[in-house]
Amino acid sequence: MERRCIYCGQLKPKSGLIRVARLSNGEFEVDLDLSKRGRGAYICKTMECLAGIKKKRSLDRSFRTNVGTDIYSELEASLTEYPKPPAMLGGME
Ligand SMILES: [Zn+2]
Repeated sequence: MERRCIYCGQLKPKSGLIRVARLSNGEFEVDLDLSKRGRGAYICKTMECLAGIKKKRSLDRSFRTNVGTDIYSELEASLTEYPKPPAMLGGME
């Protein structure tokens, strides 16, 4: 199934995207394997889109709230660390 990148608006297969999930406790988390429950926003796994959403704070607009700067930093970091498995990134849950 394809999802739309919140930055560039392109439809891409999930394998080409990173997801940010809003957890039930209201916190935001980078969801590298697209498995977390909750509302999600998708961003292309490209530096252009990951750096672009940071500049434009597109996640804030998508979730209509302040998601915090950590998430943006984490997204950038996830791209440079990719393709390590998510477990290596210290994901919690
Ligand atoms: Zn994109």
